[in-house]
Amino acid sequence: MWTATLFTLLPEMFPGPLGQSLSGEGLRQKIWELQIEDIRNHGLGRHRAVDDTPAGGGPGMVIRADVLSASLDSVLDAADPRPRLLMSPRGRPLSQAQVKTWAQGPGLCIICGRFEGVDERVIAARGMQEVSIGDYILSGGEIPAMALLDACVRLLPGVMGKSASALEESFENNRLEYPQFTRPREWEGHAIPEILLSGDHAKIAKWRQAQSLELTKARRPDLLDKGDGQT
Ligand code: SAH
Repeated sequence: MWTATLFTLLPEMFPGPLGQSLSGEGLRQKIWELQIEDIRNHGLGRHRAVDDTPAGGGPGMVIRADVLSASLDSVLDAADPRPRLLMSPRGRPLSQAQVKTWAQGPGLCIICGRFEGVDERVIAARGMQEVSIGDYILSGGEIPAMALLDACVRLLPGVMGKSASALEESFENNRLEYPQFTRPREWEGHAIPEILLSGDHAKIAKWRQAQSLELTKARRPDLLDKGDGQT
């Protein structure tokens, strides 16, 4: 079973939205499993302290290396083949290509930061790979971890009803998806493009391809530089 082991200071946030819809159904059907580790179980002293002030001064608090490593080491052994991800705005931006690779693997270990982040020493010593969900700052790694897990889990075999729909989505071939329409045929004076009602599948496919290209040119020209994945 595809297993995610997640380290957090806010275990009550999980499964949260991951318990709903596709990912929730996947949990109930045992297509994947979510193990939650409360980092605070390894906190120090009567107050179970997990953080301390930054060396060198400055605002905020930093998660201690000894506390985080104790939490990791209590459940992970060195032979665990799963990538260890640290959610972090300094990380490599998450991409659909990366999500696909992880969905095909055995699962993930995910560490959620809080406060100013984690002591730098534990990142390298425990082989963590930093991953960002975008160029903005959230208050913790939990929501980024949920976004990442949702993206991976929907690709697991059996989670999405029609697995073909995964092949036509935005970012496949570095193109944004073509516009979608459904009933009613006419709405507030706007008709569905005639070609989509023609039943000519070759023509429809061509039209969609052209629309995808136009949208990508207008909104995300940066994707075009990456090619269409077919060359
Ligand atoms: N001081 C840090 C930000 C800390 S935000 C800095 O400037 O880089 C607190 C935690 O939220 C981080 O440790 C990380 O786990 C999470 N986080 C915040 N923004 C994120 C993002 N864009 N992607 C992934 N994780 C993020």
